[in-house]
Amino acid sequence: MRDPRHDILFEPVKIGPVTAPNRFYQVPHCNGGGYREPSAITEMRRVKAEGGWGVVFTEQADVHPTSDITPYIELRNWNDDDVPLLARIADAIHGHGALAGIELVHAGVNSPNLYTKEVPLAPSPLPILTFTSDPVQARAMDKEDIRNLRIWHRQAFQRAKTAGYDLICLYAAHGFGIIQHFLSQRTNQRNDEYGGSLANRARLMREIISDAKEEIGDRCAVTIRLALDELAGPQGLDNAQIKDLVAMHADLPDLWDFAHGSWEQCSGTSRFKPEAAQEDLIRGLKQLTPKPVVGVGRFTSPDLMVRQIRQGLLDFVGAARPSIADPFLPRKIAEGRSDDIRECIGCNICITGDMTSSISRCTQNSTFMEEWRKGWHPERMRARESDDKVLVVGAGPAGLSAAHRLGQRGYQVALAEATAELGGRVTKESKLPGLAAWARVRDYRMGQIQKMPNVEIYRDSRLSAADILEFGFAHVAIATGARWRCDGVARYNLLPPPIDPAMPILTPDDLMAGARPTGHVVVYDDDHYYMASVLAELLVQQGNHVTFVTPSVKVSEWSSNTLDQGFIQARLLDLDVPLRLSRGLSAITANGVRLTCTFTGKTEELACDAVVAVTARLPIDDLHFELKTRVAEWAERGIRSVRVIGDAEAPAAIAWATYAGHRYAEELDDPRPSGSLPFRRELVPTPREGHAAAGRP
Ligand code: ADP
Ligand code: SF4
Repeated sequence: MRDPRHDILFEPVKIGPVTAPNRFYQVPHCNGGGYREPSAITEMRRVKAEGGWGVVFTEQADVHPTSDITPYIELRNWNDDDVPLLARIADAIHGHGALAGIELVHAGVNSPNLYTKEVPLAPSPLPILTFTSDPVQARAMDKEDIRNLRIWHRQAFQRAKTAGYDLICLYAAHGFGIIQHFLSQRTNQRNDEYGGSLANRARLMREIISDAKEEIGDRCAVTIRLALDELAGPQGLDNAQIKDLVAMHADLPDLWDFAHGSWEQCSGTSRFKPEAAQEDLIRGLKQLTPKPVVGVGRFTSPDLMVRQIRQGLLDFVGAARPSIADPFLPRKIAEGRSDDIRECIGCNICITGDMTSSISRCTQNSTFMEEWRKGWHPERMRARESDDKVLVVGAGPAGLSAAHRLGQRGYQVALAEATAELGGRVTKESKLPGLAAWARVRDYRMGQIQKMPNVEIYRDSRLSAADILEFGFAHVAIATGARWRCDGVARYNLLPPPIDPAMPILTPDDLMAGARPTGHVVVYDDDHYYMASVLAELLVQQGNHVTFVTPSVKVSEWSSNTLDQGFIQARLLDLDVPLRLSRGLSAITANGVRLTCTFTGKTEELACDAVVAVTARLPIDDLHFELKTRVAEWAERGIRSVRVIGDAEAPAAIAWATYAGHRYAEELDDPRPSGSLPFRRELVPTPREGHAAAGRP
C-alpha cells in the first residue's frame, strides 16, 4: 500500500500538448552506449519506463554533423537515417505508458568534430571547450550560419516528431549546448543583435523555441534544459541572469528543466554534493513562470521529493543517477516499498563510461546497460535450476551481491563472514571522510537478504578450506577481498623499491583499522583514485602535517572520469597540503622518502615521520588456492564448483565487485553452451566486398 503522503508524486501533470502520468522525470543522461549500442540503450530506456518513470528521455542527440562530440558517444539526429533508431527507443518507452523525450543539441564550442572533420561553429571564435583541449578553434557564426542553424533544428524537430517523441528538450546546460554558448557573455562576445544584452543573447533561444513550437508544437512539448549558474564569476551566466531570463520568457517553453552550469557541479559526487544540492539555486524560479519546472538533486528519498513539490520548488522530480541505480524507484514508492529502493551512492562510476567511451556500469545496479547485452533485469531473475546449496565466503560487495541475487533466484544460500561486521570494504571505507554513502551498497543488499528465508548469514565465521570441504555445499563462491600492499608496488614501481624498516609504513587497511601515524606524513598515491586524497584529509583532521606525493601530474588523476578531480585537488589545496606531483617513490629511507621526477629523473629527499602507501592491492585468494589444490576431494564432499569473485579474483573499484557477485548468481547453472560469448554484440551490417554501395551520401 502506498503511503498517502507520497500520493502527490503520482499526480498527472500537463506539459504543453502532452500529459505526464506522474511526476517522475528521467532527465537525459549519457550511458557510454549511444549510437554504437542501439539495442542496449533501447532496452535500458524501456526498463526505466517499466519501472514507472512517467517521462523517459534519451541522451543528447546532435542535430547536425557540425555537432560531433567524438570521442564521447551519444545519439545523432543528423538526417532521416537516424529516425529508425530514434523511433525504436520512443516505441520502447511508450510500451509502458511513459512519455518519450529526446534531448536535441547543437554542441557549438563543445564540438571538436573529430569524426566529421567539419569546421566547428560557435557564437565567437574561441578554442573548442572540451575535456581534452583539442587543438582546434570554432569559427564565429555569421547571420547565414545562424539561419542555417535554425533550419537544421527545424529539420531535427520534424525527425523527432516522426520518430514519435512526445517531448523535445533543447540542451542549454553543462556548457554543452549552443544556446548556452549564446546566453553566456563568456562564450558570446558578439556585437550584433545576438550579443551584448541578455535579451540579445537570448535571441537565438527565443528563435529556436518559437521555430520548434511552429514545427511540432501541436503534438510535442517543447522544453529547455537550462544552466542554473555557470559559477564563472561576474563574467559568466549567473543565477540572477537566469532568473531575469526566465521572467522575460516565462511562457516561452512548455517546461523549464534546470541543471547546473557545469556538469561537474550538477553531477557532483556524494563526497562533495549532498542530495538536493541545487535547492538554493532553484528556489524562486518556479514562481517566475506558469510552466512546470524540473530540477535534479540525486533524489532518492520520497519524503524529500514530496517536500520539493509541496514547497513550490519543483513540479517534477528530475533524476538521472537515481534512475540508473534503481530503474524501479517510482514503482517501489507507488507500491509502498520505499525500503526496497536501491539508492544511488553518488560515486559517478556510471559517468566514467561516457568519459572513457565504454559502455557504462553502475555500482548499485549491475544490470545497467546489460538489459539487452546479457538479458539482465534489475528486478527479475531466472528461477533456480536445481536444489543445489551455495556457500558464499566473504560478505563484502561481491559476496553480498552474490548472496542477494542467488537468494532471489531461490537457492539455499549460506553467507559466511570472518568478522562481526558485514559489508567488507564498503563498511570500512564508509567511515572515512566524505564516503558515508558507500554504506548504501551494504544496506540495500542486507535489507533484501534479511527478507529471504533461504539466505542464512554466519558472522564471525572465518572459514578454512577444511571447513568448506566439510560442509559439502554444491557450489562455493570465494569473495574474500583484497588487501593493500605495503611494499610500494603499483604502477610506478612494478618491483618493490628499497625500504628501510626503520620508517613506519601504513596502508589504507591500517588506517581503516584505526592505526594513526604521528608527525609529518607522506601520503604516496600510485592508485590515482579517491583513496589517497581521502586519507590525506583524514590525517589533516587528526592534526598531522601531510605532504601528498604522486607520480601523476595531478591529484587523483582517474577521478577526472568521476568528475570530481577538480574538487579533490581544491580540497587538498584548501587544507594547505603541499603537493609533490610527477614524483615517483624510488626509496623509503630511515628519515624520509627519496622521490624521482617522472620527467627529468632528478631525485630529491623529503624528510618525514611516516609513509602512507596507497599503491596496488593483493587478492586474498589463499582459500581459493588451497581449495583448488584439493580438487580431488571435491566430488566425495559433494562440491561441484568453486569460483573466486570480486577483489579476491582481481582487485578493482566497488562497482566491479558488485558486478562480479551479480554475474556469479546470474551465471550459476548457465544453460548457454560453453564457449559462447559472454554477451550479445551489436554488429554493424557490412556489405560484402563488391556489393558495397558506391557514391555520395
Ligand atoms: P569484495 O569487494 O570483493 O567484496 P571485500 O574485501 O570488500 O571484497 O570483502 C571481503 C570480505 O570477506 C571481508 O568482509 C572479509 O572479512 C571476508 N573474508 C575474508 N576471508 C574470509 C574467510 N576465510 N572466511 C569468511 N570471510 C572472509
Ligand atoms: Fe549512482 Fe554510482 Fe550508480 Fe552512478 S554508478 S547511478 S553514481 S550508484
